[in-house]
Amino acid sequence: MDNLLSGLGKFGLDEGAANNLFEDANVVTKQNADGSVSKEIAAPKEEDFLLLKAVRCPICDGTFRTIQIKSGRTKRKEPDMDLRPRFEHIDTNKYDITTCPKCGFTAINRYFGHLSSLQTKMIKEGVCDKFKTPPTQEITEIKTYTYDEAIELFKLALYTSVVKKASNSEKAYACLKISWLLRGKMEELAVDKEKNKEAIIATQKEYASFYAQAFEGFVKAMSSENYPMCGMDQSTVDLLIAAMAFNLGKYDYSSRFVSSLIVSRTAGGNIKKRAHELKEKLVERMKNK
Ligand SMILES: [Zn+2]
Repeated sequence: MDNLLSGLGKFGLDEGAANNLFEDANVVTKQNADGSVSKEIAAPKEEDFLLLKAVRCPICDGTFRTIQIKSGRTKRKEPDMDLRPRFEHIDTNKYDITTCPKCGFTAINRYFGHLSSLQTKMIKEGVCDKFKTPPTQEITEIKTYTYDEAIELFKLALYTSVVKKASNSEKAYACLKISWLLRGKMEELAVDKEKNKEAIIATQKEYASFYAQAFEGFVKAMSSENYPMCGMDQSTVDLLIAAMAFNLGKYDYSSRFVSSLIVSRTAGGNIKKRAHELKEKLVERMKNK
């Protein structure tokens, strides 16, 4: 192949820079023992999907940097039945949180702004003024969160939502997010079941508590709040409730929502497809009972 950039050498530039123009940046060239050369794709690291973004805190007005997901970089996988989003190489749920290193205000990203002056006052007095030291330090470079670090931040967000007297759906959403993180943690622990036996049991127990609370909160919210709820339209919430009820063994409750989704005039194709999948699971479960 001709050198596409021949002639640029006189500017002190590398004429070979375009030799593998469309090669994946993650391809690594490996020298084999017999002297031959082979190419492998290196698995991307979690930090490859992260970036830092400057944010202003609505409570203390300080600016700081927060970790965010690079949009467009991540590759979506089939979500769990209860809509927990899943991506290749990263659990994006861990980063759906913002915490101010100056005053400690912590919220799930969708709830970080848009506070009334009364809520701001309640958060300042009920959370931020109580911190002896802020719970997190200033972030200066990209870092990954462990599940435990992320779960702690989401618990702070839940605490804050209680203090600011948030809607039931917002509190339920925090519980759901925490249970999704605990599920991710269990998947991580399951890699070495023998070694992590006790941790798995403890995590499972915590998971069950948060999941039950999330379900209760959404059921309450459905009878008193308007849609969209936590960014979800009614049929998405119905599907979520049906899947959560299934996971909690409340099969009759789950069937009711599944049946109405299947005949719904407003539910989209993807929601209906998932409702049918859930129906198959329900039929199977009923048979085994
Ligand atoms: Zn702040």
